[in-house]
Amino acid sequence: MELIDFYKEAGIDKEVFEYGKKAEEKLKDRFARIDEMAELNQIKVLSAMRKERVSYDCLNGTTGYGYGDVGRDTLEKVYADVFHGEDALVRPQITCGTHAIALALFSNLRPGDTFLSIAGKPYDTLDDVIGINPCPGSLAEYGVRYAQADLKPDSSFDFDAIRNAIDEHTKVVEIQRSKGYATRKSFSVDEIGEAIHFVKSIKPDVLVFVDNCYGEFVEDKEPLEVGADFMAGSLIKNPGGGLAPIGGYIVGKSECIENAANRLTSPGLGREVGASLNAMRDFYQGFFLAPTVTAAAEKGAILAAEIFEGLGYKCVPKADEDRHDIIQAVELKTAKALCAFCEGIQAASPIDSYVKPEPWDMPGYSDKVIMAAGTFVSGASIELSADGPLREPYAAYFQGGLTYPHAKLGILMALQYLVNAGEISLK
Ligand SMILES: *Cc1c(COP(=O)(O)O)cnc(C)c1O
Repeated sequence: MELIDFYKEAGIDKEVFEYGKKAEEKLKDRFARIDEMAELNQIKVLSAMRKERVSYDCLNGTTGYGYGDVGRDTLEKVYADVFHGEDALVRPQITCGTHAIALALFSNLRPGDTFLSIAGKPYDTLDDVIGINPCPGSLAEYGVRYAQADLKPDSSFDFDAIRNAIDEHTKVVEIQRSKGYATRKSFSVDEIGEAIHFVKSIKPDVLVFVDNCYGEFVEDKEPLEVGADFMAGSLIKNPGGGLAPIGGYIVGKSECIENAANRLTSPGLGREVGASLNAMRDFYQGFFLAPTVTAAAEKGAILAAEIFEGLGYKCVPKADEDRHDIIQAVELKTAKALCAFCEGIQAASPIDSYVKPEPWDMPGYSDKVIMAAGTFVSGASIELSADGPLREPYAAYFQGGLTYPHAKLGILMALQYLVNAGEISLK
């Protein structure tokens, strides 16, 4: 049997397979560059594991208070090395990305300080954290003010707006690396570096924080290398490599991490407590796999853009644009097309492939949202998934894929469902 026969048996028509093949052939050079990125990031991770002398004992967890947890403490050194921080906090007790970011902010801001976002409005879930939506326990309730400098229409930093927004109360400046669910561009690490340089030229003692979600291992360097003071992310995205079942990290200046540890557990206990339970093997192995898993997801994103742009759909980023994260937005123009796309992704999933996703009223969102995710780790967006709000321009946010062949099958299945729904004709 030929490859095409296997696709046929999986429900992919010849026209869809061949359309995918043509798109893939154009991407050879880009894929080769992504492989090279995975290679150098793999070396980075391995070098840190060797330097910190990760041993078999590190894979065993602790229980109870978790005093003297060698696995946990060594893993935090590995993260600090790879991301060029003085110190790191990498814990299963950090429940998700939003928690990691909230922890970083609450622990490093004090009443009377101003928190300034210079990349426009931050990720949706931070509205409650900051108090943009009134919420019990928000930063606003603790007397931390919020200011925002919007991006320019071309989604570059607005340096005049940033200058005007910084004052004597500005303590932490946030830059969100990835676009999240906005339709702006994501920032390269160099662009982040320029913005940090500008901010520090106005106020040298300000702390710059980067929301690094979805950005890890996409480039050959990370935000701390261009002057960020601390950054945070989720372990069920890139750095967990698909294996971490929970967790978040914060990496950066010792002082910032100490503040975070005291807030995560308790002043006085700090980083010394926090049993790692059974998470360590997956944390280490996932971090080890993360560079190649991220590369697979990135290739999937590029293939999706190449295919759907070729069919006349607007894609952000464009197929030939440089990438700074693993998210691909495809504007599908109609609700029916968005739903068909998500149904295709779901049907190609290893888990719950027989389930049909339906739009629903998700807490915290004003429009109905449709989500496709058949993942091993619930909600893990480093695994193949797609979702989008049912409103103009009916964009599907597509991300992940632990392996490139799975990402490819998912994309072809999405295309097949669009063809079956009469939204696209390849004839
Ligand atoms: C995913 C994400 C978050 C929040 O992470 P959760 O794990 O979903 O809480 C924050 N910022 C950005 C840019 C993200 O992509």
